[in-house]
Amino acid sequence: MIPVGLAQLTVICLGLMTVPVFVLWLAAERRRSRREASVRARFVSCRLCGNAFEARQEQGVVCTCPKCGVLNGVEGQ
Ligand SMILES: [Zn+2]
Repeated sequence: MIPVGLAQLTVICLGLMTVPVFVLWLAAERRRSRREASVRARFVSCRLCGNAFEARQEQGVVCTCPKCGVLNGVEGQ
């Protein structure tokens, strides 16, 4: 058996408890990042008035700005 002091045992226990929390945090951060990227991909900024709006799927690669009516291209489609 390896002799371990109380201070070392405390550090080992804290380290073992911290690793799962860190892994869960990384997974949550990755999920949040992907979700945010997909939301950003759907939004279009109007090239004329600068209005940001969500491009609907049924509009295709070109969508109409709801504020000024100018046609804007949707990136990534
Ligand atoms: Zn516009």
